Amino acid sequence: MNEQHVKNYMNGQWRSADSNETLTSINPANRNEIIGYIPSSGKSDLNAAVQASKEARLGWKKLSGSQRGDFLFRAADIMQSRVDEIGEIMTREMGKTLPEAKGETLRGIAILRYYAGEGMRKVGDVIPSTDADAFMYTTRTPLGSVGVISPWNFPVAIPIWKIAPALIYGNTVVWKPATETAVTAAKIMECFHDAGLPAGVLNMIIGSGSVIGQGIAEHEDINGITFTGSNNVGKAVGQAALARGAKYQLEMGGKNPIIIAADANLDLAVDATISGGLRSTGQKCTATSRVIVVKEIYEQFKEKLVERVKELKVGDGIDAATWMGPCANEKQMETVLSYIEKGVAEGAVLLYGGTRPENSSLDNGFYVTPAIFDKVTSSMSIAQEEIFGPVLALIEATSFEEAIELANDTEYGLSASVYTQNIGKMLTFIQDMEAGLVRVNAETAGVELQAPFGGMKQSSSHSREQGQAAIEFFTSIKTVFIKP
Ligand code: NAP
Ligand code: MG
Repeated sequence: MNEQHVKNYMNGQWRSADSNETLTSINPANRNEIIGYIPSSGKSDLNAAVQASKEARLGWKKLSGSQRGDFLFRAADIMQSRVDEIGEIMTREMGKTLPEAKGETLRGIAILRYYAGEGMRKVGDVIPSTDADAFMYTTRTPLGSVGVISPWNFPVAIPIWKIAPALIYGNTVVWKPATETAVTAAKIMECFHDAGLPAGVLNMIIGSGSVIGQGIAEHEDINGITFTGSNNVGKAVGQAALARGAKYQLEMGGKNPIIIAADANLDLAVDATISGGLRSTGQKCTATSRVIVVKEIYEQFKEKLVERVKELKVGDGIDAATWMGPCANEKQMETVLSYIEKGVAEGAVLLYGGTRPENSSLDNGFYVTPAIFDKVTSSMSIAQEEIFGPVLALIEATSFEEAIELANDTEYGLSASVYTQNIGKMLTFIQDMEAGLVRVNAETAGVELQAPFGGMKQSSSHSREQGQAAIEFFTSIKTVFIKP
C-alpha cells in the first residue's frame, strides 16, 4: 500500500500545517514501514480551526435534528463502503488484528446511525408550573464549539462516539486525534467530508498532545472538551477546562478485575479472561488485568488458562492466522516489558510469556508474548497500576467475599466481571462492586453503544458517554417558562 500524505481539515478544506512540518506514522508490526506523513501542527493551525468552528455554529445549530442526522447517515453509508480499506489502515497503523479493526469500523458506523436517529428523539420534559396559566418545559441547547481529544487504542470508535453526539445535538467540533493513528483519523474525516458536512462544522487538527491537545483545553473559544486517554493527561485537561469555566468530560484508565467463583463454568471463564485480557493486545481501557480466583478452583483454573494462552498465535495483525498483534508503539512495548520485570522483582511468579517472541521475523515489530503471573498480591505494582498490555495477574482469594474486597482494592473503577451460577453471588457482586460497568458471566471488555459507558473512582470524571447518556455532556438544559 502507498504511503499516505495526510493534511489537517478545517473550514471544509484540507490544509498543511502552517509550519509545513511533518511527522511519520509507522507500522508497529514493522518499524521500518512508514504508513504516512502527517502534519505537525502549531497554535496558528489550531486557532484557524477553532475560528472555523465558531463561525459554523449558528448555521449548524439552526438546522433541525433530523437534518443534522441526514449528514450522519450519509457519513455512515460512505464509511460502510470503505470498511475493508479503513480496517486495513487501522491494522497497519496501530497493530490490532484485521477482524478487530474491521469490527471496530463497523461499530463506528453503527454509532453514527444510532446518533443520526437521536436527532428525532425527545430532548425535554413538560413540568407543571405553580402558576395555572403558565407553561413550563425544558429544552436542550448545544455548548458551541466542542474539543475532542482521542487516543490511539480505538482510533475509529472512540472519536465517533464523541463526534456523532456532539454534532447531532448541534455543536461544532475541533478534533485532535492521537498522533499515533492520524492516518486512520484522516480516513474518518474523509467520510464526513464526502457526506457534505457544511464547512467548519467538523475540523481535524493533527499535532502533539502538549501543543494541540493542551491548546484545545486552554482555548477560550472551546466551550466543552471530551477527552479519552491516560489519567495524568486527563486530569491536566480537566484542570485547564475548569480554570476557564469550560465543560469537560474525561474517560481514563482501568485496572479491571474478573472474579471466578467456585461454581463458575471454568471453560467459559477462561474464554472470557483471554478475550477480555488479551484481545487488542490488552490495550483496551476495559481490558481484564486482574484475575481473582477463589482457592477451591485456583489450581484448576490456572492450568486451563496457561494451556489455552500457549496456543495463541502472536504476529502481524494483517495475517489471518494471527490472534494477537504487537503493542501499538515502542513506548507501550517498553512499558509492558518494564512491568514484567517489576512483577518478578516484587515476587510474583511469571508462569508464561512476557518476553519478546523467539521468531526472528518479528524482531522489527513491537511484540510481547501474552504474560500470565501467578502468586500476585494486591499491593504489587502489577495489581495496582494500569499496564495497558497483554499481562494477566492471577490473585488467589480465600472466599468470594474476599474476592470482591480484592477487586475493589484499586483506585480505578471502570469495568468488572464475575463468573458464577449463583444468583446470590451475582447480586452481591452487582451491589458491592465499585465500577461503572458490572458484567455477570461476560468479559470485562464488552461495551454496547446504546448503553451508558464510563467509570467510577479515578477512571472518569464521573460522567457517562454513549447511548442517551451522551446528551448530558453535549448539551445544556434550558428551563423555559412562558406566561401568555
Ligand atoms: P494519552 O497520552 O493520554 O493520549 C490521549 C490523547 O491526549 C491523545 O490524543 C494525545 O495526543 C493527547 N495528549 C497527550 N498529551 C496531552 C496534553 N498534555 N494535553 C492534552 N492532550 C494531550 O493516552 P494514550 O497513550 O494515547 O492512550 C492510552 C491511555 O488511554 C491508557 O491509559 C488507557 O487506559 C486510556 N484509555 C481510556 C479509555 C476510556 O474510555 N476510559 C479508552 C481508551 C484509552 P498525542 O497522541 O499527540 O500524544
Ligand atoms: Mg503507528
